[in-house]
Parts: sequence; C-alpha cells; structure tokens
Amino acid sequence: MAGPDDTLREMSHEGIRFVSEEEARRARVEERELSPDAKTPAKVRVHKTEGTGLEIDWKDGHRSQWTFAWLRNACPCATCHEEREKSGRKPGEAKPHPQTLLPMYQAAPRPDSVTPVGRYALSFNWNDGHTSGIYSWDYLRRHCGCEECRESSTLRG
Ligand SMILES: [Zn+2]
Ligand SMILES: [Zn+2]
Repeated sequence: MAGPDDTLREMSHEGIRFVSEEEARRARVEERELSPDAKTPAKVRVHKTEGTGLEIDWKDGHRSQWTFAWLRNACPCATCHEEREKSGRKPGEAKPHPQTLLPMYQAAPRPDSVTPVGRYALSFNWNDGHTSGIYSWDYLRRHCGCEECRESSTLRG
C-alpha cells in the first residue's frame, strides 16, 4: 500500500502517530483566522537591557507580552519545533532539567540582538548562539503571552 506519498512518513522514526486531543486543539488554534490588524504591530518594545522580554502593541489595540525564556523555548525554527514535537512540549514550555551528573550553569535566555525580518517577523540572536528562529507577527499573536489570552486558552481546553 505504500505509495510515493509515504516517503515523508517513512523518514520519521515514529511511524504512524495518533493525534492526541491536545494536538488537535493546538491545530485548531493554528488555523484560526487573524484579522490583519491583529497581526500588525503598532509598537514593538524589546526590553533587552532589563532582560524582561518583548512587548507588542497591535493595531487592533491588544497588547502582548512574552518573557525571553518563553520566546527562546518557543523558537519556531524547524529544529526546535521538531524537538518540541518529540518531547510533547508546547511552544514556550521549558525543557525538563537535563539528567546529567554535572549540571551546567545556563545563563537566562536573552537576545544579544533583535532584528526585523522584512515586514513580517523578528529574528532573535540568542545569547546561547541560536539564531535560526523567525518569529512572525502571526506566530507571536497566536501565542500571545498576556494573562487574558493565556487564561482563555486554558479555559477553552
Ligand atoms: Zn530554534
Ligand atoms: Zn493577549
């Protein structure tokens, strides 16, 4: 029964996966249409010196904020995305503490620099050397870290 379409699936080590309720819910969140104003930033503040995080005022009047730790753990690049999928972490969820005998000191995530990517995204140059994540306005708004959105996404559960 294997056709050419199965190539991708064969390349993954997991074989056929069952979609959990959590994954299905997340997929629905991803699909939700955002109005253009909801994903157009009016003001972007990067609190780099304070190390507190990123704040965006959107054109529709909503204000989003994220800590740098959250953003680092939500890196949308393919590598980080895959790693999260494998360990079942949500974007922004911290990795469990590594089971090493000698725990390594890890500096709190913060960007050495933040650069706009065209007119649609931000790119973070993280202090751990990771730079491949492109955080689109769409992605950021969908994962708004303000209290209100975080609460409503848990309630929707
Ligand atoms: Zn990444
Ligand atoms: Zn929000």
